[in-house]
Amino acid sequence: MLTLQHRYAELPALLWTACEPTPVAAPRLIVFNTALAKTLGMGEQPDDATLAHYFSGNECLPGAQPMALAYAGHQFGNFVPQLGDGRALWLGEALDANGQRRDLQLKGSGRTPYSRGGDGRSPLGPVLREYLLSEAMAAMDIPTTRALAAVATGERVMRQPPEPGAVLTRVAKSHIRVGTFQFAAARGDVDALKALAEHAIERHYPECQAEHGANARYLAFFEAVVRRQAYLVARWMGVGFIHGVMNTDNASVAGETIDYGPCAFMEAFDPHKVYSSIDQGGRYAFANQPGIAQWNLARLAECLLMLMDGDEQAQVDEATAVLRRFDDFFAVERAAVNADKLGLASDNEAATPLMEALEDAMHKGQMDMTAIFDALYRHIAKPGEAGRKALLALTLAPDALAGWIEQWQCEEVASRDAERLAAMRRANPVIIPRNHRVQEAIRAAEDGDFTPFYALLSVVIAPFDDTPEARRLGAPAASDENVLRTFC
Ligand code: AMP
Ligand code: MG
Ligand code: MG
Repeated sequence: MLTLQHRYAELPALLWTACEPTPVAAPRLIVFNTALAKTLGMGEQPDDATLAHYFSGNECLPGAQPMALAYAGHQFGNFVPQLGDGRALWLGEALDANGQRRDLQLKGSGRTPYSRGGDGRSPLGPVLREYLLSEAMAAMDIPTTRALAAVATGERVMRQPPEPGAVLTRVAKSHIRVGTFQFAAARGDVDALKALAEHAIERHYPECQAEHGANARYLAFFEAVVRRQAYLVARWMGVGFIHGVMNTDNASVAGETIDYGPCAFMEAFDPHKVYSSIDQGGRYAFANQPGIAQWNLARLAECLLMLMDGDEQAQVDEATAVLRRFDDFFAVERAAVNADKLGLASDNEAATPLMEALEDAMHKGQMDMTAIFDALYRHIAKPGEAGRKALLALTLAPDALAGWIEQWQCEEVASRDAERLAAMRRANPVIIPRNHRVQEAIRAAEDGDFTPFYALLSVVIAPFDDTPEARRLGAPAASDENVLRTFC
């Protein structure tokens, strides 16, 4: 069905434990990502029952070598030396169309040696949420793990109250997390740490292999990870994404968005916005995300320093200098995102100050972020009084926005530049998976009706297509529909 390799299993056994999935009562396929499967080399697609059989974990995919991966992590700033796949299993690596290794992972497939008190299962809700959000993210060209399949288990998961269960199949560049490094480092296992670092370099940053000497190689690797995290978080900020649980175990060394838990796309712009029910201190609030990414990278640096030899203080200074460059990388990426979102040339230095002024106006006027940028695009694509009126209708503080529009129009905005207009469209989706729509789809699915889920999925995976259905499902929540809290 898919040809799987097992390079990760060649790493020291400290980093994984072989483990079989636990069969489920009555697997039923909810959705299968045929397009993604093709890129992973899947030939003829088996029937739904066969897919449900394999992607529930009732039988392992031919060629799979299931194992739970070990990792540690700082959760909300507190170090937990042993986490690991408590409800997930790594199956192996498929090679994608570009020859890139892509992990296949089942999530919700039963208990593992790392389950601690947990049941190893996942309710249907989080599976559908990850499917919708990760596929929307991919469609917006933001680095992310992908969703290959969702299967209902036909069993209830014991939650308060009991919920239907499901299994998600996730595809990732890898599941190497900052927390994976921390796991080996916390045990003082330098050999495992080194093997992991070399594997991550070979797999994700082969260009670092050209560096002479181990110290230079690990520093180059660190810098490459810093760059990719800066790139990623800048893209999140551009679409109002709030990850919600940026613990070090949820920070991918490959720079993908990973572990969709209580994440959400922001509606009314607010830099302090938090949706996650478990983020009581607001540690992972929208505007904190770059700083947290940098904090997580500092934890990675601490691990890598254990692999460097020579003058310790000099190594620390060098790693710190690289870590500080996160700010510059992030500023450059943000400026690029800002320019695209505002329809400006990529080298226009007004992009960031203009964006900051707009954020201020959006916050004051409680403006819906997605709707405002979509309206900006439409105003540019079709200039005129109607577009301006449509913009002003989206704010509770029209004077602030009117002033900003004037400032903005002093810059050379896209107008007749087709290429820039297209870039502006690609930076400003018509639709994001809005919390109330995601929740609505989940509620209906829990009652056995998957129609709203399929309808929402079909539009969020084409986020720049301006269709009546996208407009309907992409409209901001009415005040009584607003979702204030998300759960994992
Ligand atoms: P997360 O908050 O999803 O990043 O998970 C944090 C840790 O808790 C990971 O080690 C998970 O594998 C584990 N975990 C979460 N839910 C469960 C569950 N139902 N059963 C076992 N382990 C779980
Ligand atoms: Mg996690
Ligand atoms: Mg998780």
